Amino acid sequence: MSNTNKPRPTIKAVRGTRDLLPDQTPLWNKVEATARAVFARYGFGEIRTPIFESTELFARGVGEETDIVSKEMFTWEDRARAASEKAQSLTLRPESTAGVVRAYIEHKLGETGQLQKLYYIGPQFRRERPQRGRYRQFWQIGAEVLGPQTSGSDSPLRDAEVLEMLASLLDELGIRDWKLELNSVGNTEDRARYNIALKEALAPVKHLMCPDNQRRAETNPLRVLDSKDEADQEIINALPKIADYLGPDSSSHFSQVLAALDACGVPYHLNPRLVRGLDYYTRTTFEFTVTTGLGTQNAMLGGGRYDGLSEMLGGPKAPGIGFAIGEDRLILTLQAQNEADIKAAQEAGAATGAGAPDLSHLEIGVPKLDAYIAPLGVAQNPAALKLARDLRAQGLTIEVGDGSFKIGKSFGFADAIARNIILLGEDEVASDTATVKTFATGEQVKIERSQISNRLKS
Ligand code: AMP
Repeated sequence: MSNTNKPRPTIKAVRGTRDLLPDQTPLWNKVEATARAVFARYGFGEIRTPIFESTELFARGVGEETDIVSKEMFTWEDRARAASEKAQSLTLRPESTAGVVRAYIEHKLGETGQLQKLYYIGPQFRRERPQRGRYRQFWQIGAEVLGPQTSGSDSPLRDAEVLEMLASLLDELGIRDWKLELNSVGNTEDRARYNIALKEALAPVKHLMCPDNQRRAETNPLRVLDSKDEADQEIINALPKIADYLGPDSSSHFSQVLAALDACGVPYHLNPRLVRGLDYYTRTTFEFTVTTGLGTQNAMLGGGRYDGLSEMLGGPKAPGIGFAIGEDRLILTLQAQNEADIKAAQEAGAATGAGAPDLSHLEIGVPKLDAYIAPLGVAQNPAALKLARDLRAQGLTIEVGDGSFKIGKSFGFADAIARNIILLGEDEVASDTATVKTFATGEQVKIERSQISNRLKS
């Protein structure tokens, strides 16, 4: 028999995953609501694709040689449960573009002839080494613009519009000092020529590089440019630049993107080393980095054009461009900015002797409830719940205590979570009244039950 007195070991959230508690989720919801509102202004509709897909989708769509597919995916053999089913390899999505393009193909969205502007918000899964800003389950807010060529899907205007939308979104969210880094990785032919040049340039020096870069130099030389390995930077900086290998089409496409950004006044920095980790990118690639809150994981979002992805997945030609914002990193940045602002405001207040500054506009937390109802005795519990029901039906936010609580305890609970306390004693229930105390002013009144909602709303 097992020893029932022995405490059982506790179970913790899996490494690299986290719980978002109610004091954190208001900020997440605010970010998501802002993103939805901005996307709507640009004509995007929401798409929700499954959290798991067949492994083959990512192998083909993201690329076997990428870190994501070669070492970071959560993949399992899903066994058949019935004779009619086949066992298959499934994977928790490490990103959403492949799933969105699969859905575009599966539902023949291209046959509408219209440009498809789709956005998503949801978790992604990668078996990375967890650290601040890097998790195994993380959230992305992303969008894709794709369609048949006749819908204008490969126009440089689309690239510029997506980038301008991101600049507006980050501004509206209050993200400061973001930096847009931009490059063009050319079309398939440009990339093929550049790959040859890179391989040639790497051949005499690759033995001097770290083992990862030696492998990449063979399998996917473009990825060497992504490397953060300190010792290899000098060699990497001396490698040929993709800009010198762009054909006239890619060059002209890229200059039109830049011209439209200039017209909108969106600042950018050209970064010839920005090739990004995923295989499907063509032409415009970009990243937005920030200086506050993220440390080394300073890439807040990334994206680019993927003109051949649909065909790689067996679909029709459907040029497209998209991005994914790391929502966890966006939130970390907003929190760090907020902390810096609070500190600066306090220091400014102390320096001028002006006393404590009003920082309420900087606080992002759980809003207080309109009222806490305290029944004074268990006999008042039913009337308390009925009052709560009536007030909630009128849109007020209400918590109800319990008649067994001592009055001091009710006041303690109420003060922590609500702006008012409503006391409901035997007299009040009998006379259809209630006593309402407002914590901020200390004012206490006995009023008719029907007047409570007006008072709470005032
Ligand atoms: P990617 O899909 O790799 O282009 O990533 C797009 C964005 O997602 C990055 O710029 C990060 O902000 C975010 N991101 C990627 N991997 C992680 C991770 N493991 N944890 C948190 N955020 C991530």
